[in-house]
Amino acid sequence: MIRVRIAPSPTGYLHVGTARTALFNYLFARKEGGVFILRIEDTDIKRSSQEMVDVILDSLTWLGLEWDEGPYFQSKRFDIYRKYAEKLVSEGKAYYCYCTPEEIKERKEKVQKQGKAWKYDRRCLHLTDEERRKFEEEGRPKAIRFLVPEGKTDFDDLIHGKIERENQDIEDFVLIKSDGTPGYNFSVVIDDHEMEITHVIRGDDHISNTPKQILVYRALGWNEPAFAHVPLILGQDRSKLSKRHGAVAVSYYRDQGILPEAFVNFLALLGWSPGEDREIFSMDELIKVFSLERVGKKPAIFDINKLLWMNQEYIRKLDNDELVERIIPYLKMSGLIGDEFDRDYISRVVHLMKERLQTLRDLEKIGYYYFKDDFDYDPKGLKKRIYLGVEKRLEMVIEELEKIDVWNEKACEDVVRSIADKEGCKAGEIIHPIRLGISGMTFGPGLFELMELLGKTRVINRLKRFVEFLRKEEDH
Ligand code: GLU
Repeated sequence: MIRVRIAPSPTGYLHVGTARTALFNYLFARKEGGVFILRIEDTDIKRSSQEMVDVILDSLTWLGLEWDEGPYFQSKRFDIYRKYAEKLVSEGKAYYCYCTPEEIKERKEKVQKQGKAWKYDRRCLHLTDEERRKFEEEGRPKAIRFLVPEGKTDFDDLIHGKIERENQDIEDFVLIKSDGTPGYNFSVVIDDHEMEITHVIRGDDHISNTPKQILVYRALGWNEPAFAHVPLILGQDRSKLSKRHGAVAVSYYRDQGILPEAFVNFLALLGWSPGEDREIFSMDELIKVFSLERVGKKPAIFDINKLLWMNQEYIRKLDNDELVERIIPYLKMSGLIGDEFDRDYISRVVHLMKERLQTLRDLEKIGYYYFKDDFDYDPKGLKKRIYLGVEKRLEMVIEELEKIDVWNEKACEDVVRSIADKEGCKAGEIIHPIRLGISGMTFGPGLFELMELLGKTRVINRLKRFVEFLRKEEDH
C-alpha cells in the first residue's frame, strides 16, 4: 500500500512550491490507489497558530487536494520524539549537549578565523562525569545530538538516481533542542516511520537533509522509504521563486480570480511533463497520466503569463451559468454589486465579456461600467477620439435615441448610422465617442450590443453626462 504525505510548516500561507509538491503526492497516491496524508510541521510553537493552519487547509481544499488522513500535528507529538531520542542516547547513538549558543558561536568564530569550516566539535561527547554532573547541578538546558557514525551514506533517488554523501561532512545534528522541541531531521523521520510513509516526495532543497534522515532510520533499525526529490520552482530570472518575484501564496492566486482547476493544471506542468504537446489536463486526466518517471531533474520556471493564458482557456470552456456563479463572489468583493443583485443582468454581462476574461476578477478592470455610472474617461481615448464639434453630434444621437420605442441593438445601430449619413462623416467618428461616453474605455464588446444591454436610460444619461464633461473641458 502506497502512503505519501505533504508536510507543510505553517508560515501563514501555502507556498506555491509546497502546493506543487502536494499535487505530485496527491496524483501519485490517487494513481496508485494509495493514501495521501497531511501533516503540519508546527514544531516552532512561537511562529505557528491555528489561523495559519487554517490558511493551509483552505488552500489545499480550494485546489481539490483532499487528504485521506490527518492533519497530524507535530506539536502534539513531542513526547514521542523525546522517547526515541532517549532510546538513541541509551544505546550510545546520541548524546546530551550542554553547550550554549554563545559558547558554540565563540568556538565557531575561532575555527572560522583559521580559515576552516565549522562543524560541531563534539565537546559534549567527551565530557567527564564530573563536568556532566556540574552542568546538571547548574540546571543547564541540554539538547540531544545525533552521533554521526563513520562511513558514507547513499540512497537511490527516484528522480536523481544515486546520491552519496561522506558522513564526515555531516555534523552531529540536533535531534531535540534544549527547549524540548525536535529538530526537523529527527521529527520527520519518526513521523514518516510511524505514519508508514512509503514514498517521500518533496522539493530538491531537502536533498542535503536526506542522508541525515537515513542515518537516523538506520540507527533506529528501520527501513527507509523511497525518496523522490522534485525540482524547485524558479522565477523568470532563474532564481528560487520567492516574494521578490511576486506572490508565492496560493491564496493570492485565488483572490486574483484564478480558477483552481487552471491552477492545478498549471502546477502539474511545473517539473512534470506528459511527454506530448498537450497542455490542458483535468485533475482526473492528470491522475491517469501522472508518473514520477516523467518528473524532470531541471528546475521549472513559474511563468505568470502562461498561468493567465491557461486560466483564460478554462474560463472559455466553462458553462455560462457556472461562470456567473463563480464571478459573483468577486463582484461582491470588489463592491461592484451588493448583497442583492440582478443575476440575469450579470449573466448577460458575462455572455458579452466571456471571451475577454483572463481571470474571474477582470470585470473590475474591464467591465466596471456595467455596474457603476461615475467612472472616469480614459485620457488617451479622449485625446484620440474627441474632436471639435463632437458634442453637437452626440446631442443629435441623444435626441434620436430618446425616440426609440423598442430598445435593441438594431435600433441603436440605425440611429448612429443615420446620423453619420446626415453629417457626412464615418460611423467610427460617432461610434468611438459614444463608447468612451458610456463605458469610459476605448475597447469592449460590440457597441450596439453594449448599448442594448446597458438600456435606454443608462445610455442616454451617460451620454448627457459626457457632453457636459466635454463642454466643461472646452471652457478650460
Ligand atoms: N516541513 C518541511 C517543509 O515544509 C517538510 C519537508 C519534507 O517534506 O520532509 O519543507
